[in-house]
Parts: sequence; structure tokens; C-alpha cells
Amino acid sequence: MSDCIFCLIARKEIPAQILLETEEVLAFKDINPVAPRHILLIPKKHISSVMDPQLPTSPQLTAELFSALQQLMADAKDGFRVVINRGEHAGESVPHLHLHLLSGRELAWPPG
Ligand code: 5GP
Ligand code: ZN
Repeated sequence: MSDCIFCLIARKEIPAQILLETEEVLAFKDINPVAPRHILLIPKKHISSVMDPQLPTSPQLTAELFSALQQLMADAKDGFRVVINRGEHAGESVPHLHLHLLSGRELAWPPG
């Protein structure tokens, strides 16, 4: 059993503002938002990153991730951005797969 911070949130061992939960995924508010609406969407089980070999062979999980994304962003009429940071150059800081869902303001492109 992993004790990474997002596993602890998934097991409700530390609090988070949870927005959506299904069998395999959880969405909650980022503790340090960089947009008016900043949601983190994670698999409940410990998948270490977007490069984890389990991911392409987990159809239930990937379906639930995209279904949750669509539900969460259905009302983001002005648009939104989905970000997965991977590695040092991208600023990845938590070794548990997470999608950032950002909305509520204009988002610069390219992101810098
Ligand atoms: P990364 O930099 O790895 O792509 O993103 C990690 C994100 O997790 C950051 O945006 C950070 O604010 C968020 N985060 C880190 N620890 C916690 C926590 O304990 N609770 C919540 N809700 N978000 C966290
Ligand atoms: Zn974890």
C-alpha cells in the first residue's frame, strides 16, 4: 500500500475538497490553485505517472478518467486546459498520476 500524498487523499486519510468520485477515479480541488478553478483528477490506485505501463492496459480506468473529465468540465463554456506534468523539466512534484483541469481565466499559450 502506497503512502504517497494522493494515495492518502484517495483513501480519505487526509482531507481534500472532493468534487467527484467513481470506482476508479477521484477529483478534488488543488490545494494551491493556479486558476480560479483548478481540479486534480487521479486514479485511486497508485499509478506512478503518465508513463506507467499499466495505463494503456487499464481500459476501465482510462474510460473513467475521460468520463470524469467531461463531467467536471461540462460547464466550462469559455474553455479549459488539461495538463499532465511529467519529469523535472515540467515541474512534476507528486509521483502519482494526476491531470490538472484548469479553467476560469484566460490561459496563456504557449504556456512557457
Ligand atoms: P505537479 O506539480 O506534480 O504536476 O502537481 C502537483 C499538484 O498537487 C500541485 O498543483 C499541488 O498544489 C497539488 N498538491 C500537492 N499536495 C496537495 C495536497 O495535499 N492536497 C491537494 N488538494 N493538492 C495538493
Ligand atoms: Zn499514490
